Amino acid sequence: MTERRRALPAVGTVIERPGIQALATRWTRTLVTEAVRGIIAAARTGGPLPSDDANWAMAIDARLAEQTRPSLRPAINATGVVLHTNLGRAPLARAALDAIGAIAHGASTLEYDPEAGVRGSRHTHAARLLCDLTGADDAIVVNNCAAGLVLALQALAAGRETVVSRGELVEIGGSFRVPEIMEASGTTLVEVGTTNRTHADDYRRAIGPRTAAIVKVHRSNFAIEGFVAEASVRDLRPIAQDAGIPLIHDFGSGLMLDLSPWGLTGEVTVPETVRDGADLIIMSGDKLLGGPQAGIVLGTRDTIGALRRHPLARALRVDKLTIAALEATLGLYRDPARARREIPALAMLTESPAAIRARAEGIVATVASGAVAPCESTVGGGAFPTARIPSFAVTLVDDIVAVERRLRHGAIPVVGRLADGRLWLDLRSVPPEDDAVLVAMLREALGPGGR
Ligand SMILES: *Cc1c(COP(=O)(O)O)cnc(C)c1O
Repeated sequence: MTERRRALPAVGTVIERPGIQALATRWTRTLVTEAVRGIIAAARTGGPLPSDDANWAMAIDARLAEQTRPSLRPAINATGVVLHTNLGRAPLARAALDAIGAIAHGASTLEYDPEAGVRGSRHTHAARLLCDLTGADDAIVVNNCAAGLVLALQALAAGRETVVSRGELVEIGGSFRVPEIMEASGTTLVEVGTTNRTHADDYRRAIGPRTAAIVKVHRSNFAIEGFVAEASVRDLRPIAQDAGIPLIHDFGSGLMLDLSPWGLTGEVTVPETVRDGADLIIMSGDKLLGGPQAGIVLGTRDTIGALRRHPLARALRVDKLTIAALEATLGLYRDPARARREIPALAMLTESPAAIRARAEGIVATVASGAVAPCESTVGGGAFPTARIPSFAVTLVDDIVAVERRLRHGAIPVVGRLADGRLWLDLRSVPPEDDAVLVAMLREALGPGGR
């Protein structure tokens, strides 16, 4: 220890070296000084001490790169959960990225009508396309699905009662609990039915003079089996109509296309649920729709009008980048085959197991490590909670706890899953364009240079 301490250089002498001075042009002198101080402090407690200028430069670079990197960074989702809320849900299509770039760099027609030369409304942009694609009369886009529900209940049911099934008072994703969101929206919950069975008559009996709305919540992330019954949107529609109150459908997923040819069955699509006739349908933009985070609210002209006029609409409105990405994503749905190919969430969910296997074999050959094994992916956010999609993974067996950790700690974190004594990197949730990055990160984590 004494030997070591004696060998530590002074900060000043390190930063005066020519090889280190050059770094100040890339970073700043202050940052370089701080980094040198940090490295020397770490060496005092046993950390590595660079031996020459080149090593100092590398150590300083590495330290500053880590210190100055953004908190929100790209990552690789190799969990096999395609729409992973913690990993940012849907990756955007190229068309959506281009649209964001085109709108972000300068002025735009966000609230300006260039034909008429007058002020316009940001609410008009995606609305027309949403109506064309879904058959809805009108639409408004807000921050996320939760915001859509808050706005709907505030505008239509605040200070009065909302009827909801006990089987639908669920938690969906982090911190979205249907009963809590509803209460926070100023409406009083009237629970009907039981956890496993709720009938149309339960709703009918609960409706009274203070009832403002019926809410129907989609079963997004769980399934119940056995002695079960629920009233569908179609069952509830005449009940709401007779009572003269809106039927609000918290639909969640935003599934636009029938994915049953790819084995994903049992969920209705947005156009189908629009035909079922709820007054309002609320869904996320970044789940199966495959677009940016947004809350899309479809409905009748009257109900959407009421939402648009509510003061909260201003607080929950989306920014121009979201509108740009959403409009571009929706535009792809004009041609369903194109949407399926170009919207990454859909491309991932429908990629053939054979194609995934070939990618996995390529990666294993390139890194000369691991093996290819079959596995099952899941959809994640918003729909098909029980679906298991055949897939393939790159699997590793040696020193997996350390490798898993190094993969997470890399410049681009790779998130896989540890199970059955192996580390699984399921390629279904990795866009094929990211395979090269995954290889680079794997090399770093596996190689002797990996930290
Ligand atoms: C995912 C989901 C939500 C929450 O959506 P966010 O866009 O995350 O606010 C609400 N309701 C249902 C039915 C969902 O599936």
